[in-house]
Amino acid sequence: MIIKDYVLQEKEKIRNKVSNMGIKPHLVIVQVNDDEASSTYVRGKLKDCEEVGVRADLIRLAVTASQEELLSVIEKLNHDPDVHGFIVQMPLPKQINEDIIKAAVAPSKDVDGFHPLSKMDPCTPKGIIDYLTSEGIDFTGKNAVVIGRSNIVGKPMARLLTAKNCNTTVLHSKTRPEDMAFYLEHADIVVVAIGKKEFLTGEHLKKTAVVVDVGINRFEGKLYGDAKAGLDVALQTPVPGGVGLLTRLTLIKNLLEAYSHGIQN
Ligand code: NAP
Repeated sequence: MIIKDYVLQEKEKIRNKVSNMGIKPHLVIVQVNDDEASSTYVRGKLKDCEEVGVRADLIRLAVTASQEELLSVIEKLNHDPDVHGFIVQMPLPKQINEDIIKAAVAPSKDVDGFHPLSKMDPCTPKGIIDYLTSEGIDFTGKNAVVIGRSNIVGKPMARLLTAKNCNTTVLHSKTRPEDMAFYLEHADIVVVAIGKKEFLTGEHLKKTAVVVDVGINRFEGKLYGDAKAGLDVALQTPVPGGVGLLTRLTLIKNLLEAYSHGIQN
């Protein structure tokens, strides 16, 4: 099923579930930057919440806000029993250290899954695993190649694929081209998350490969993935209308997970 339809179907299931909940799950988004891309993402997340019937609020701080101000907002949210999960929209202005902020969010409310002790997995990799599973992809014993090793995508993606019994290889900017070719030739599943427009050309790939394109590259007013569109492979996720939708869906799934932990405790 194409990702757009899969996401609609999953959201419908969530909407039904939420409609039977007395106390609605409650998400808070904290936005400190004022860049256009972040505002678009935030609007999308708020719209998703509205569509499935969960509560969502936005707290906006000035771009000049200090780290201490943001930490005090986080502290309040950590202790607010009315809030089940919250996120701090990245990137943050340069006077604020992102690692300190990620570490300050209570693991039980960290619906972005950025805290090392978070009870939830990061949205992008988890969304990818859920989607591939729904497509009937068998992970066990498959050669998975993850290109990119960021803390929010590449590394957790490799961890989740390994947990699914893949033989996982992580490649990065220091990988030699001949090694990149070798690993791609043997890959059954390729996840590319590097932020380089059309980096993956399809050369070396098996026709039976599954290609997941995480990249979002804006060029002359259009969006491009990290892979060329229309590769001759078994499955390729599109950009736009691909992994971005899965990431947004998973934020709501993580909120429901945080909600159920909160209710149990
Ligand atoms: P990031 O933190 O900038 O990390 C990029 C990674 O790519 C690094 O590990 C880097 O290697 C590697 N890399 C860069 N150039 C490379 C090359 N030529 N060959 C091989 N590896 C290379 O990026 P990120 O946050 O993971 O995001 C990656 C892309 O995914 C971006 O386009 C971003 O916008 C997009 N993204 C999309 C979603 C979504 O929901 N669709 C979510 C998150 C991110 P080194 O470690 O060696 O520097």
